[in-house]
Amino acid sequence: MTRFSSFAQTLQASDIAELLALTEKPEVISFAGGLPAPELFPIEEMKKVDEAIYNEEGRKAVQYGTTEGYVPLREEICKRMKDKFFVDCKPEDVVVTTGSQQALFILAQILVDKDQTILMESPSYMGAIMAFDPVGPKYTEVPTDDQGIVPEELEKILAADDSIRMIYVIPEFQNPTGITWPVERRKAFMDIVNKYDVVVLEDDPYGEIRYDIEKLPSLKSMDTQGKVVFLGSFSKIFMPGLRLGWIVANPEIIDKFVKFKQAVDLGTSTFGQRQAAYFLKMFDMEAHIAKITALYAKRRDLMYQSMEKYFPEGVTFTYPKGGLFTWVTLPEGMDAKELMPKCLAKDVAYVPGGIFYPNGGNANHFRLNYSNMPEDRIVEGIKRLGDVLKEELAK
Ligand code: PMP
Repeated sequence: MTRFSSFAQTLQASDIAELLALTEKPEVISFAGGLPAPELFPIEEMKKVDEAIYNEEGRKAVQYGTTEGYVPLREEICKRMKDKFFVDCKPEDVVVTTGSQQALFILAQILVDKDQTILMESPSYMGAIMAFDPVGPKYTEVPTDDQGIVPEELEKILAADDSIRMIYVIPEFQNPTGITWPVERRKAFMDIVNKYDVVVLEDDPYGEIRYDIEKLPSLKSMDTQGKVVFLGSFSKIFMPGLRLGWIVANPEIIDKFVKFKQAVDLGTSTFGQRQAAYFLKMFDMEAHIAKITALYAKRRDLMYQSMEKYFPEGVTFTYPKGGLFTWVTLPEGMDAKELMPKCLAKDVAYVPGGIFYPNGGNANHFRLNYSNMPEDRIVEGIKRLGDVLKEELAK
């Protein structure tokens, strides 16, 4: 028997993981993952990109690079931070990461000690909980409504607990709910956090996938004290397999982050970083994003219309203005995890909502993804889900 560390001993196969493994079968109409539509990956363009990288940079392109990242990519990221998120930054304020998932892991490691508190929206991204867990933190969930975090509740929680070190939020097209904070909420949030000695992680992998909503200022653009760390990602606008994300943060945080990242991977793939930088230089990223948003908006509408048609009275769902997910709420007392086997028997799947709450509970929700299924399967899958829900509610 191998002797594992005490943290490793806590890593158990969960019943949800077992259920989700069943969603991988090809016959299952799965709304469970968060995968982009692969038909939009720019494969032909990437063949030209790869050739150009080798022609222009040769072996340098596959040599080790700096931990901070490839400078031309960090320059491109700064331009995008200005255009998309209204943030002024310089390449030295940016570190390229191996996905924003890595940034979540490292930020918790450098900012939080065991038993200190991390605040999260209730519910929040399950992968963030996974990334923070190795630190051994406590989690406090901040209540949310249909406009994001409720400022009065946040203020009460911050005033009552001086072990809070970090607040993790997803203000745009949240995973799992699809909710976006209006500007007034963002301002109220910043006014409150500015009174406390905490760091804010603003995770925004979906901000560029917007359908019917204007660009809104990021929290980082309102940050006068350097307490917001912005986390960006190329996964949803480009290709998740490249594993490319970035952070923008104050110099103190950048310094510790880079030292820690060195221990984790020395640096993000030097070739992968060039693939993103060359694509941005050689092709029209905005036209590419426009294609993605047009397709996902169509799929969102179709899913929404199908839910209106096939879901029974008493089941509610969000209408996301961007991003990849909608959030379904079942009548109180129903359990989405218990319903999963019945849905899987009809070859349709979702993610039960309970796992998005770091402290558990809240079984009467599930998350649906609409980016990864073709249109006919969306309609058919929602119809099947509707049948299961109707049967349950008739009991
Ligand atoms: N944050 C959120 C809110 C996400 O939904 C995801 C991916 N599903 C990530 C971070 C991780 O993204 P990446 O591929 O950049 O690691």
